[in-house]
Amino acid sequence: MGEIFYLEKEEATIHREKITDIAREKVRFDEAVIAAKAQLQKLYEKAKKEVGEAEAAIFEVHEMMLDDNDYLESVYNIIENQQVCAEFALAQTSQNFARMFREMDDDYMKARGADIEDISSRVLRILSGKEEGRKLQKPMIIMAYDLAPSETIQLDKDKLLGFVTQKGSTNSHTAILARTMNIPAVINTEIKKEWHGKQAIVDGYNGEVIIEPCQEEIEKAVARMEEDENKIRLLKELKGKESITTAGRKINLYANIGNVADTAKALQNDAEGIGLFRSEFLYLESQTYPTEDEQFQAYKAVAENMAGKKVIIRTLDIGADKQVDYFNLEKEENPALGYRAIRICLQEPEIFKTQLRAILRASAYGNISLMFPMIVSVEELRKAKSFLEEVKEELKQAGIPFKDPEVGVMIETPAAVIISDQLAQEADFFSIGTNDLIQYTLAADRQNQKLDDLIDNHHPAVLKMIEMTAKSAHAHNIWVGICGELGADTDLTETFLEYGIDELSVSPSRILAVREKIRSL
Ligand code: PEP
Ligand code: MG
Repeated sequence: MGEIFYLEKEEATIHREKITDIAREKVRFDEAVIAAKAQLQKLYEKAKKEVGEAEAAIFEVHEMMLDDNDYLESVYNIIENQQVCAEFALAQTSQNFARMFREMDDDYMKARGADIEDISSRVLRILSGKEEGRKLQKPMIIMAYDLAPSETIQLDKDKLLGFVTQKGSTNSHTAILARTMNIPAVINTEIKKEWHGKQAIVDGYNGEVIIEPCQEEIEKAVARMEEDENKIRLLKELKGKESITTAGRKINLYANIGNVADTAKALQNDAEGIGLFRSEFLYLESQTYPTEDEQFQAYKAVAENMAGKKVIIRTLDIGADKQVDYFNLEKEENPALGYRAIRICLQEPEIFKTQLRAILRASAYGNISLMFPMIVSVEELRKAKSFLEEVKEELKQAGIPFKDPEVGVMIETPAAVIISDQLAQEADFFSIGTNDLIQYTLAADRQNQKLDDLIDNHHPAVLKMIEMTAKSAHAHNIWVGICGELGADTDLTETFLEYGIDELSVSPSRILAVREKIRSL
């Protein structure tokens, strides 16, 4: 957020000057290329320090491009055949080569046109004796028609609040550098010269530029920037560290995910595993029942991405607030108290067994556990487990490999809490779903906005439920975690540890805040 600096497009007018000394012109060009390569080497060193070797590599590539025979010969030929100055021959070559790349089908290759222009204008600047780079006098937002990768890396990062360009693509090196350097940037958007000097917000997350923001927009942006800075600080301080108390007690800090792509967020935030994979999202994102193979691929991908870390897949939890048309579920007066989750699965063995087969098959590729949602009785758990055994037997018969996953019960109904000592005898672990447990304990619909302010998530009844569940689990030597939103409430972390909670599974963005809290206790 800050003042816009509108960067005029550098209009290098190149004249088609006739020359007579062809050899001299070629030498001029060669010398300029040598000087350009030296500059690129320096840029490479600077980029390597600031953004790392991988992203800096572009400047090595640029250096190599300046060794490219086709490119060099094109310049020589034009000098020789048309008897024109090196500047003109180079500009012509640059245009031709850039156009050639831009006409390619592949998006990545298309974006290389900008690299050609970038290296060419560097040599041109040297040939015409112009200085490169513009210095910002104070922290500002740059608005430009386009920015070359080399211009981006040369911008003084301390003074660059963000940039907005009319051109550019997601694959362009400028965009890649911006991401790596953590510079808010919006590309491929409208820019106007009259915005120079105006205040603006560059929202790189949403690809939005707000010119002359109102007070409310400013306040929102400030809050988000603070949140972001805090996240960056946490990442720096806590990534790779253990979630361990000062007394040395280790808590498993896992992430909640809804699909395969979320695994990246989990890993970025240093999740130690996946504590809740809401498998129903595969059904919600689909037009019809996802096949066994589609599910298998998704579960396998998550297991592989997590590379041996625990991945707990929650079996289908459809119904209530998560409705899917193709299930053709009847409209209910009280859907939250209705036909949902394990209740549906136990009535629809085809759907349930398809999912269990997919989970078991995927178990061969990592460290998969599964858990059943909305359990209210021991019978339900037994029935669900007997389906699991059936599927195991079928896989065995068919010679399909699988591991024997841990089987957990989600504790999200008061009934499950009260019979938790019995459930604990037949389960490998408990995961407390506080979102539903709160709604059922306090008789308050979690979907009803009106109740948001009235409901006390810290209600003693809720806390007692959690404590009871943990006691039952430990009395039967199984572990117990929390995967509802309350697990991320750092005001309760200490209480949870006192209850003996072994695992907390939270949204990826909350992981490090919770780790920070655990490490302070
Ligand atoms: C819960 O109820 O706390 C839970 C984790 O499950 P969901 O939010 O998906 O119902
Ligand atoms: Mg739930």
